[in-house]
Amino acid sequence: MGDLGFSRSRVAGARVRRYNDRPFRKDGEYVLYWMQQSQRVEENHALAFAMETAAYLEKPLVVAFCLFGAYPEARWPHFVFMLEGLRELARRFEALRLPFVLRIGDPLTVLPPLVEKAGALVLDVGYLRHQKEWREHFGQKAGCAVMAVESDVVTPVASALDRRAYGAHVLRRSLGVRWRAFLEEPLLGPIPAFRGLPPGGEDPEEGENLLRRAGVPFSPMPPAWSFRGGEGAAGERLNVFITDKAALYAEARSLPHRQAVSCLSPYLHFGMIAPSLVVRRIEKASLIPSEAKAAFLEQLVVRRELAMNFVYYTKDYDCYGSLPTWALETLDAHRKDARAFVYSLSDLENARTHDPYWNAAMMEARRTGYMHNVMRMYWGKKVLEWSSSPEEAFERLIFLNNRYFLDGRDPCSYAGCGWIFGLHDRPWPSRPVFGSVRFMAASGLERKSRIGEYVSWVDSLV
Ligand SMILES: Cc1cc2nc3c(=O)[nH]c(=O)nc-3n(C[C@H](O)[C@H](O)[C@H](O)COP(=O)(O)OP(=O)(O)OC[C@H]3O[C@@H](n4cnc5c(N)ncnc54)[C@H](O)[C@@H]3O)c2cc1C
Repeated sequence: MGDLGFSRSRVAGARVRRYNDRPFRKDGEYVLYWMQQSQRVEENHALAFAMETAAYLEKPLVVAFCLFGAYPEARWPHFVFMLEGLRELARRFEALRLPFVLRIGDPLTVLPPLVEKAGALVLDVGYLRHQKEWREHFGQKAGCAVMAVESDVVTPVASALDRRAYGAHVLRRSLGVRWRAFLEEPLLGPIPAFRGLPPGGEDPEEGENLLRRAGVPFSPMPPAWSFRGGEGAAGERLNVFITDKAALYAEARSLPHRQAVSCLSPYLHFGMIAPSLVVRRIEKASLIPSEAKAAFLEQLVVRRELAMNFVYYTKDYDCYGSLPTWALETLDAHRKDARAFVYSLSDLENARTHDPYWNAAMMEARRTGYMHNVMRMYWGKKVLEWSSSPEEAFERLIFLNNRYFLDGRDPCSYAGCGWIFGLHDRPWPSRPVFGSVRFMAASGLERKSRIGEYVSWVDSLV
């Protein structure tokens, strides 16, 4: 930011990217932070950077949020969860005396009138195609400096590795211990107060009627829904994990009947908790053995950010053709293999297969909006096995993933579904349909876990 005269930030420079070469607009009325990906106050590097910018320019700060009812693939339960977070955000910003302007509509139409009066526009960072396109649009169109700040990863993606990693070991090696340099805690400093009336917006306390006015199509909530949105609820989930479950993580994270996992993925997906904050809390917890800490950080710091790496460096991350060449070749060679079972999408979606474990996994997703990681692996492998082509299986898996998981529509969705087809994996001994892509058998679930207990638990969720 040196050319803008603004060089002393507490936010790591590698997190910040200029989206244009325009200067600050001196007569701008305020600095505008468009909150989109990082839906929180605590440990939000983009918010902290926007506050620093406002202090530097001696202008107030406005935080804007667009409630876009046609958000790609988002459904009613996703919006309900997000709205709970927005209500909390409105209260927190009021306590901070920062105007929080919630508006209904497409960011491309809602934001321009606010951007016109801004001295600088600060964005947070999302890695999916539409998120990138929105940011590039404002970089081109805004008449002031536009800067984006990466806050939803521990290590900024381009600093972690300068290319697509073909396996977790590549990213792990590149990260080494460098990722620790990015555990800085951003500070929210003082800024000039808003004089006069800030721009108007909606009141999130209006509740679900706001979603109806935003044009979100109604669909019933999953019957055993237990997720409450917002950064307060995210912190509570983390506390429960640390006190009750994390100590068992290394030995029990792969046992679906134990549920020894954090269930933080929906909160991470909506940016309601910072991964760097989770890392610090886990590391400080004296009751968690070091083996469990290491196993958890492997998932949060390496596996999760491997997904960001994949989406960042792969233009068509949601297309079958983005899979590794060896996987495409082996799946192609086995496309005509006889399948013991072929199910329709409707059979799958309604959990009508011959396999009680698979049906339980699908019902867990439908009833709770979540599925245990090991069941996601088994569930995905069977969709590949029971579809008439690998391309069809890929499309179905992404559809079901994004429709039923509260944490769906995430970089981890595309990397997780891709893994089913060989992404970030290696060739295994060849077998029908899968070729050398890794296979999973029901007998593996039976051998390694008490899978019957998992099925009974899902049955009890109605
Ligand atoms: C077919 C398939 C589909 C998937 N779809 C999604 C999805 O839509 N959204 C999603 O967030 N994750 C997805 N995953 C990855 C993983 O299953 C979930 O992140 C994890 O189960 C979330 O539960 P948790 O928060 O309790 O995880 P925990 O075990 O408590 O792990 C903590 C955090 O580490 C990260 N993490 C854990 N496992 C993985 C993994 N295998 N890959 C990447 N990051 C991981 C997540 O951010 C998670 O919240 C998918 C995996 C597969 C195999």
